[in-house]
Amino acid sequence: MLKPLRRALAALSALTVLTAPALAAPRQQGDVLIRHATIVDVEKARTVPDQAIVTRGGAIVAVGPDKAIARDWAAPRTLEAAHRFVIPGLWDMHVHFGGGPDLIAENKALLPLYVAHGITTIRDCAGDLPYDVLAWRDEIARGSLFGPNLLTSGPKIEGLKPIWKGTLEAGSKADVDAALARLQGLKVDFVKITDSTLDPQLFLYAVARAKALGLRSSGHIPMALTVRQAVDAGLSSIEHLDYARHPGSPDEAAIAADFAAGRINRAEANRRLATSFDHATAMAAYRRFAADGLAVTPTLNGSRIIAHLDDEDHSHDAYLAYIGPKLRKTYDWRIERAAKATPAEIAARHADIERVGAILPMLVEAGVPIMAGTDAGFLNSFNYPGIGLHDELDLFVAKGLTPAQALTAATRAGPAWFGKLDRYGAIAPGKVADIVLLTANPLTDIHATRAIDTVILRGRVHDRAALDAMLAEARAKVAAWNAETAQ
Ligand SMILES: [Zn+2]
Repeated sequence: MLKPLRRALAALSALTVLTAPALAAPRQQGDVLIRHATIVDVEKARTVPDQAIVTRGGAIVAVGPDKAIARDWAAPRTLEAAHRFVIPGLWDMHVHFGGGPDLIAENKALLPLYVAHGITTIRDCAGDLPYDVLAWRDEIARGSLFGPNLLTSGPKIEGLKPIWKGTLEAGSKADVDAALARLQGLKVDFVKITDSTLDPQLFLYAVARAKALGLRSSGHIPMALTVRQAVDAGLSSIEHLDYARHPGSPDEAAIAADFAAGRINRAEANRRLATSFDHATAMAAYRRFAADGLAVTPTLNGSRIIAHLDDEDHSHDAYLAYIGPKLRKTYDWRIERAAKATPAEIAARHADIERVGAILPMLVEAGVPIMAGTDAGFLNSFNYPGIGLHDELDLFVAKGLTPAQALTAATRAGPAWFGKLDRYGAIAPGKVADIVLLTANPLTDIHATRAIDTVILRGRVHDRAALDAMLAEARAKVAAWNAETAQ
């Protein structure tokens, strides 16, 4: 009677022996295991509770329910997220470095500020230190310089003798071709074109040639052109929200023609564009933007700061402690210009920035990708690297975007524009391990993006203490420069 049972037991133990090694399979190795995380799925605007994330070699290699991941994976470093909120690293899609060769050290000192504020990628939109910035980009990628991933336009294309320094000057199609060949040689990440002296037709030629060469382009659209002309030529993004106002005017083409013929100046052109703005015209234009895949970087907070230089006192801003004395000196340009404005001009500026801001929710409604960018750097007074992006996101929500839409602008729109969504923009296997842990839920309150507990940059963990040390070091550098200047 017992024999079959014994035989069955023996068979069972044999089976156990056979399957035991499989059950006890060595766990897969990662570098960092993040436990009990609440992942913010930005794309679907929802949170996924009790997840674990594994990073290895600078990439995310596993994400899933905490228990299952903890069973299958081991790592020398475990991070207890304690149900904190995990978002992809933030992208600031419009920053600048510059002010001249004397300011290289002060500009370079801004890099850690971005990381300390959860910004893991920045898009440099040209300045007058383009070759330094290109070198930093490569050093950061190699790991020999600490900073966020840096994508840069390199030197911008301009006309002859432009007001902007550090440019490739173009007075002919041949010049444009040579400039683009040079930019290709520099392996720039995109092309920036500004128009202080660039001929409008050469602007269109540059945009079209850049596109033909497979380069994305962005810039300041000449007033003598309609925005549609620039988009049709192949412009990839509009920088600064006020340019997006132009196609909202049924008179845009006539205003552009009057400006081109010298019949009106820029101020008059802007006044006419503003007063003739029409909601239906704008929405039709914005739906075409969306269909064309054109993105807009509003840099709204930067414009707001400039519009209010007269009635907002920045002299006690805590963030001045992060701005070197020479960079701070570059702020004077706009401050002095603002001081010369008449009361009527000031009132007009205040009213105008509100009208420009009202365009933002219309673009979103039309489906135009919005990219969060600050315009922080030299010249742009009190527009602070790092914290400025959080101010921009606050403003997006104040203007009517949902927190999820604002977060999309700062985590997914940038990678989408660069064609890098396969590597960025979500917490998922295969993505770069650029991760920010927040102590509050950014989908319910956008202010939560400031509540940074930990920043993981290309797999390297920087906890709150490390981020505070980064900030303290940045302040100490500036304090030392300030002391030197005072002597
Ligand atoms: Zn800019």
